[in-house]
Amino acid sequence: MSAKIIDGKAFAARVRAEVATHVARLQETQGLTPGLAVVLVGEDPASQVYVKNKGIQTREVGMNSYEHKLPAETPEADLLALIARLNADPAVHGILVQLPLPKHLDADLVINAIDPAKDVDGFHISNVGLLGTGQKAMVPCTPLGCLMMLRDHHGSLSGLTAVVVGRSNIVGKPMAQLLLADSCTVTIAHSRTKDLAEVCRRADILVAAVGRPEMIPGDWVKPGATVIDVGINRIERDGKGKLVGDVHFDSAVQVAGAITPVPGGVGPMTIACLLANTLTACCRAHGLAEPEGLTA
Ligand code: NAP
Repeated sequence: MSAKIIDGKAFAARVRAEVATHVARLQETQGLTPGLAVVLVGEDPASQVYVKNKGIQTREVGMNSYEHKLPAETPEADLLALIARLNADPAVHGILVQLPLPKHLDADLVINAIDPAKDVDGFHISNVGLLGTGQKAMVPCTPLGCLMMLRDHHGSLSGLTAVVVGRSNIVGKPMAQLLLADSCTVTIAHSRTKDLAEVCRRADILVAAVGRPEMIPGDWVKPGATVIDVGINRIERDGKGKLVGDVHFDSAVQVAGAITPVPGGVGPMTIACLLANTLTACCRAHGLAEPEGLTA
């Protein structure tokens, strides 16, 4: 039997449409337009593409997009001064500093300089702490997108056994916190985990966030499990470039109950959740009710 394919592209389009509806209502009833500032330091080609796409999608949902492109050699003090200006700007509700930063800049220092209420990436230490203690936080976009798809598929996640493979600060750890907050029994696995195949086979929900192409084969998947593949790996196959996940899709799709494809699964949800977070930040900043279903 073949698994249900969780269509992240269609899901993300629905999230963006919902955000756009809320933005239009905010403009109509409050005269408010949410604004997202994206800061790019340097000329990393992949980062330039991400920033461009974020700008396009921000404008498409009716929000204001403010792009700040700084030269690679920008001194840390100048970047911190820009963040301070954006923190103080009432037209800016969300601030995102595109990572990775050039090596001479301390990413932790820079991220922690962002006002936590405007930290739409959810990487500020205050948001990490709020999420970990079950308080209202800005939630990192990629795990938030995964959570939305899981809730949509399962309804309640309560009591399910979840295994998250990968313990990065941007995906694995916040993903585990979100699943725990939804009352899953959570295991975080990583490069030192013993018997990883056995650990994965226990999972009703298996989230792969490793960065190793097709590392998880179908026989590591419990029959009927939901598989969320966060990995984005560019490989060469038959002389052509191809994007694959951390899960071996062709074998896993035979065993799983539901699975996200790569591309077209988790990837499109990330920017959609960035827009959702910017809307949430704007509502919170103005003491307005938050739109339902767009945050954890
Ligand atoms: P990361 O910071 O490199 O973390 C990778 C994690 O995988 C680490 O915790 C590492 O364990 C673990 N790992 C490595 N080899 C392993 C192995 N053989 N067995 C078990 N665990 C292993 O990566 P990341 O930033 O979390 O990203 C993970 C993947 O998601 C990448 O492919 C990335 O491109 C993708 N991603 C996608 C999106 C999206 O929008 N869809 C967003 C972010 C990331 P240790 O801690 O022990 O080293």
